[in-house]
Amino acid sequence: MHKISRLAVLTSGGDAPGMNPCIRAVVRTAIYNKLEVTGIRRGYQGLIDDDMYDMGTRSVSNILNLGGTILKTARCLPFRTDEGMETAYQNLKKHGIDALVVIGGDGTFTGALRFSQKYPDIAVMGVPGTIDNDLCGTTYTLGFDTATNTVIEAIDKIRDTADAHDRLFFVEVMGRDSGAIALRAGISCGAEAILLPEKETAIPDLIENLKGGQYNKKSSSIVIVAEGDKNGGAYDIAKLVQKEVKFYDVKVTILGHLQRGGSPSAFDRILGSRMGFAAVNALIAGKNQMMVGLEANHIKLTSLEKALNQTEFRLEEDLIKMAEILSI
Ligand code: ATP
Repeated sequence: MHKISRLAVLTSGGDAPGMNPCIRAVVRTAIYNKLEVTGIRRGYQGLIDDDMYDMGTRSVSNILNLGGTILKTARCLPFRTDEGMETAYQNLKKHGIDALVVIGGDGTFTGALRFSQKYPDIAVMGVPGTIDNDLCGTTYTLGFDTATNTVIEAIDKIRDTADAHDRLFFVEVMGRDSGAIALRAGISCGAEAILLPEKETAIPDLIENLKGGQYNKKSSSIVIVAEGDKNGGAYDIAKLVQKEVKFYDVKVTILGHLQRGGSPSAFDRILGSRMGFAAVNALIAGKNQMMVGLEANHIKLTSLEKALNQTEFRLEEDLIKMAEILSI
């Protein structure tokens, strides 16, 4: 069992609202338990560059409401190499760090698992911080709720103008290979169709659906396209549809990076606090190579290996079916 005295925390991969409340919880829980805390800047890049600093209780004051991450984040290629990992390890040893909390997505966890298998004297604990909501072992990842709310706010505005002009809008949303944001936003905004990477949609079926909407006197239509959809991007799909759907003026909006920003929602502030608190307590209890998740409103630990096992990950079929029925 790892007995830890100095713990480090980093954020890695894409930033997500809720990372700051989580950092705050990690720092304060560690200090409460008489551990020393190091903050690492720019994810694994900071480990390699030895870019780290001591954190105290006041260094995380007034950050609960901030989007992004005060520790900064990066995508770091050198950490994928043996040399990069060795440099990172030597830097951790130099500072007497024996445990690492990594806040990020699947790439971050893949790196953490490889690192911890190579250097077993450093304990690692993952916190799922990604707007994509694409990890096994947690119903929600940090940032997903805020990003979905941001998307909803934007689509509500698009609906106003779509309605005023009898327009058909294709709105592309983030999520990489996950349709989680698209599905939740689609239900919340009453989208006429939701194109998801997890479920194939034939373009002729989509066209029939939109024609049916016009027949049913819909004054506007919104189609949400998850960025990972197999039919291509929103522009490609809109072009195919425009040829067949003459009654609507077709427009495309790519929401892009605005989906990552903004002050975390209440849900993400509380989730970040709970996960950061639980991550430190799990390390103190001697746990290692695990991810902190939330299931049925309880904190649950899952091995990093299992969290990364995408074959067990499924988007809710019942929600997909319900969205189809409610949009008639
Ligand atoms: P998001 O889901 O928001 O994109 P992520 O954590 O999946 O977040 P990535 O860029 O995929 O983001 O991964 C973050 C970092 O993790 C990479 O920049 C790299 O430093 C490290 N990483 C990813 N895969 C590996 C790997 N196979 N071995 C070592 N390190 C890795």
